[in-house]
Amino acid sequence: MSLVPTLKLSLEMTNTLSQIERNGLRINLDTLADIRKQYEEEMQELEDRLLQLARDAMGDTPINLSSPDDRSVLLYSRKVRDKKQWARTFNLGHEMRGSTMKPKQRVRMAENEFRGVVRRMTDVVYKTKGQQCPKCSGEGRTRALRKDGTPGKAVRICKPCGGSGVLYVPTGQVAGFKIVPRNTWDTAAAGFRADKVTLEERLGELQGDAREFVSAYTRYNALKTYINTFVEGMENNVDDHGFIHPEFMQCVTATGRLSSRNPNFQNMPRGSTFAIRKVVESRFPDGYILEGDYSQLEFRVAGFLAKDKVVYADVRNGTDVHAYTASVIGCTRQEAKAHTFKPLYGGTTGTEDQKRYYDDFKNKYMGIAVWHEILQADAVKYREVSLPSGRVYAFPDARWTDWGTATNRTAICNYPVQGFATADLLPIALVSLQRVIDSAGIQSVICNTVHDSIVMDVHPDEKNICIDMMKHAMLSLPFETMRRYNIIYDMPVGIEIIIGKNWLDLEEVNL
Ligand SMILES: [Zn+2]
Repeated sequence: MSLVPTLKLSLEMTNTLSQIERNGLRINLDTLADIRKQYEEEMQELEDRLLQLARDAMGDTPINLSSPDDRSVLLYSRKVRDKKQWARTFNLGHEMRGSTMKPKQRVRMAENEFRGVVRRMTDVVYKTKGQQCPKCSGEGRTRALRKDGTPGKAVRICKPCGGSGVLYVPTGQVAGFKIVPRNTWDTAAAGFRADKVTLEERLGELQGDAREFVSAYTRYNALKTYINTFVEGMENNVDDHGFIHPEFMQCVTATGRLSSRNPNFQNMPRGSTFAIRKVVESRFPDGYILEGDYSQLEFRVAGFLAKDKVVYADVRNGTDVHAYTASVIGCTRQEAKAHTFKPLYGGTTGTEDQKRYYDDFKNKYMGIAVWHEILQADAVKYREVSLPSGRVYAFPDARWTDWGTATNRTAICNYPVQGFATADLLPIALVSLQRVIDSAGIQSVICNTVHDSIVMDVHPDEKNICIDMMKHAMLSLPFETMRRYNIIYDMPVGIEIIIGKNWLDLEEVNL
């Protein structure tokens, strides 16, 4: 295999992407303003509630939600005594590896040892009651006394209260939500991890106020991102005609999947329930937004690349994989969706139930598990991993670690799946669709592509022909992979086509 087919496809993609960029997306600015308002109101409510919960848990000790130190104390009820020593003990921080800054390799510790170190290096934090500082009478400033006992001119910050005028006196009650750190991975410079991923992992085991705080905080953070990235991204980039024109880039991500900027319209939450999608409307009066999606594309691609018989069987039988996940983890089908494919991306951490599912996944899809081993061995031996399409991923410093996996294991296992799905397969459908649109001479246009989906802006008179074109282009994968890469793509291709008046309110088209 050579890189020629990949290069050829990239050049065709450049053409198609430049047309998509010119077409742009029609934005309804009134809807955008409404959504901003909704988000801001929800954020304000959440912030009030979060601060209330923090007060209930901390007493009078003030908590700043944007401070990692404060969040660590609030969630874990412990404060690190000496941060420098703490960072040395667990090897926290970043270092240059190759040509990029990467987090240092965390120290590993047995459970008992870790618990002992935490007990030794941190103090339990107690709820406090605030009272007026007696030294400065709440002024926060003091004046040194002259020899004759009268106050002097020099004003100093009051030491006991640190200038705040308030002394926080510990009560006997432990403060915070008393989450117990699991292992060295949960440590951070500020004490313990309070990031989105960790909090989502721990949510299931929390109860009462702790649970309410963590879920409200997760939502609060998500809203912040929605406003900063998507709402402001659109406001700042909309042109005089109410269009945005995201710029697509093929050569930014390591896997080869597309990225976009001005605004970034790629890193959108998956699924079709993201409220911001409502602002995208048709440019044609009474027109439609049409979206074609590949079903379980990355899962099927992993099954194809690994030649996993169970994946083939599940796909052919239409097995509900998420219902299976739910039955193993013991959660709802909707909650299970976040976990089903996590093992494809090297996901191994989580609650006990989640870990049980990840182990179960390995046993169920043995072919994928074996393939992950082969990929790592290839990466260590050849310093690269290649795809049937000819695309090659370099891992110049791959080596075995002490615990039997390759360095960069996650990337080694994940790049081939994500790359084949979104850099080798999806572009085929995209350029095929553009080709038939050009030759049919219709007014409807492709206006966006995200993850494993293609979005069209459809003229009302061209609804049926566009559905038909979308369907054929997306289903052309087996034929096109043979023509372009000379490979037999024998995994069944599943698609879903949805249509509606905006990009949010879409209904499924019966194919
Ligand atoms: Zn004072």
